[in-house]
This record gives sequence, structure tokens and C-alpha cells, in this order.
Amino acid sequence: MSTTVTPTDKASKSAVSTYRAAVVRDFNAPLAIEQVQPPALEPGQLRVKVEASGLCHTDIHAAHGDWPVKPSPPFIPGHEGVGTVTELAPGVSDVAIGDRVAMPWLGYACGTCDYCVSGWETLCLQQKNMGYSINGGFGEYATAYARYVVKVPSGVDPIDAAPLTCAGVTTYKAVKVAGTRSSDLVAVFGVGGLGHLAIQYATIAGGRVVAVDLIDEKLKLAHELGAEFTVNASREDPAEAIQKLGGADQAIALAVSPRAFEQAYGSLRRGGTLVFVALPADNNVTLPIFETVLNGITVVGSIVGTRTDLREVFELHAAGKTSVIREVRSLDQINESIADVEAGRVAARIVFRP
Ligand SMILES: [Zn+2]
Ligand SMILES: [Zn+2]
Repeated sequence: MSTTVTPTDKASKSAVSTYRAAVVRDFNAPLAIEQVQPPALEPGQLRVKVEASGLCHTDIHAAHGDWPVKPSPPFIPGHEGVGTVTELAPGVSDVAIGDRVAMPWLGYACGTCDYCVSGWETLCLQQKNMGYSINGGFGEYATAYARYVVKVPSGVDPIDAAPLTCAGVTTYKAVKVAGTRSSDLVAVFGVGGLGHLAIQYATIAGGRVVAVDLIDEKLKLAHELGAEFTVNASREDPAEAIQKLGGADQAIALAVSPRAFEQAYGSLRRGGTLVFVALPADNNVTLPIFETVLNGITVVGSIVGTRTDLREVFELHAAGKTSVIREVRSLDQINESIADVEAGRVAARIVFRP
């Protein structure tokens, strides 16, 4: 893990001398807005002037050190950074100065292992992750590997591109992994930053969507974005309600609660597929073996998406097929924004302007 947040008193080789960024110094403390020094570019890297950077639940887990594999402070979170390229390491020709690019979770992969060459670069054991094992996009500038940034097409607003860079590609891939086909009933558990996009991708794939959440406002949004049915899990058992609709062909678990995963499982019809996407701090669910075998249930995990998936996500958005629900805030508001996301006070996604 290389996390370099260097002090500001050294001369920099970069055109940028220092820049503001949100830094995690301690898992139990709020993030600090600091002046940091840009690292010298390593071979294959580029520098980006960040225009927009979305706040994903993963950033919050990173900042709190919630998961079994922890980042090492100090580090800068953010894996939905979007901006324009200002500097290239010698020999980088994949992108040009001035290109607008997205810097996703998959910040680097080896490019040659079995996973990388078979279209599963997201499973590469050598991968580095933006905002986790390498510094991310919560700053005025960010450093990334040229081969793993994805160009943002003209006509896509960077403020929209940011949430698409994780929430978009992750749910787009989850629908691919689910194998949704026309007329399938797709249950989307959790209508937040990810869920509001999952509903749209499942609909684009031809699915009929039932959205599940605890908050009526979010269910109203789900309906506006294409969900045919909605279930408020605080008032009725979603598994029972969805079984009344015939059971879900696929259920996509996006809520950070093991209970929601179990309800998603219970909503499936025979032969159905449950896709694990959200990563709750509480890491365990209980699923029955007997019913899984007899009902021929598939349980599958889906982690973000590849560069190809993200290109497709941008293509759909440029074509006007998706809407991104987001709220723009200043990076200075990062700690209150984290509190708002944790309390469920945010409609979908917060996007910071550095
Ligand atoms: Zn994310
Ligand atoms: Zn690899």
C-alpha cells in the first residue's frame, strides 16, 4: 500500500506546488482539510485537476477503517473523481492533456494475469484502489494511472460523471452479473446512490423493477426512475410482498444491512439469483442451505466494474438514457456530508466540488 500525503515544505517537481485535499489521519477522527504536496509522477501516471468527486459509502468505511482489509492513514479517500488531465509522466500516450477522465476504484491492475486478460481486471490480485490503497479524488488534484482512467465523453456533465464512476458502473455490472433479461422481475434493495441507478440499468436491460427501501421519499424517487412496484420494508415484509408478485428472478442487495440481504434472498423465486453488492460493516448473513439447493438459487458477489463497463455507462448517459440524482457540496462539508449519508438524509449522491 502506498499512501503519500507529504508535508508542504518541500519543493515539488510538479507544476502544482500544493493543493487542498481531505485527509484521513485517524479512523476515529473527522477528515482534515489540508494543504498537501503532489507526489512526483511515477511511470504511467498522470495528474488530474479534479472538477467533481462523489461520496460513496465505501469512502465512509475507508475513513472509519470498518472493513477487514484497512487502508493505512494518512490517505485521501475518493474513487469517483472526475477532472481534466494537466500533467503526464514521460511516455504516457493513452490520454492527452486536457482530456476529461474519471478515476474509478480500480486505480491500477497488472494487465497480464489471468483475470486481467479475461475481462476480469476487477479481480486482479495486484490491483490498487483509488482512495483506499492509493490516494483518491477528494482534493483539488489527484494522481492516477493513465491506463486505468476512463475518458468522459463530451456532453456528459462532470457532476453526473462522478457518481457514474462508482455507483453507476457498480450497479451496471451487478445487473450484467444478475443476467437480467426482458420481463424478469428485479428486486432492488436500497434506493440510494447505487439503487437509483440500479433501477435504471435493470429497466434498460428489460427488467420490471420492484424497489425496496425504508423511506417513502426514496421509494417515490424509485417510482419516478422506472420502478414498477415499491415496498417500504419498515411497514411490510419485503420478501412476502415480492413473493406475492411471483418472486424476483434477480435481487440486487445494495443496502448496508445484513438483514436486507436476507430479505433479498427471501424475495427470490425458484432459480433466482441474489447479487451481493453492498459491503456492510457487519460482515455476516445467514442463508439456508436446504432452500438454496432445492430452489436452485444462485448467490454471487459483484465488485465494481471494468473500464469497458464504465465506458458503456458513460455511453448510456451521453445518450440520455440515465438520470443521476445528486447534490453538489463543497469539499469543506465532507464531515457533515458523511454524517448525512450515515443518517440516510441524502436523496442519492453527494458530489463535492473541490
Ligand atoms: Zn464506491
Ligand atoms: Zn492482473
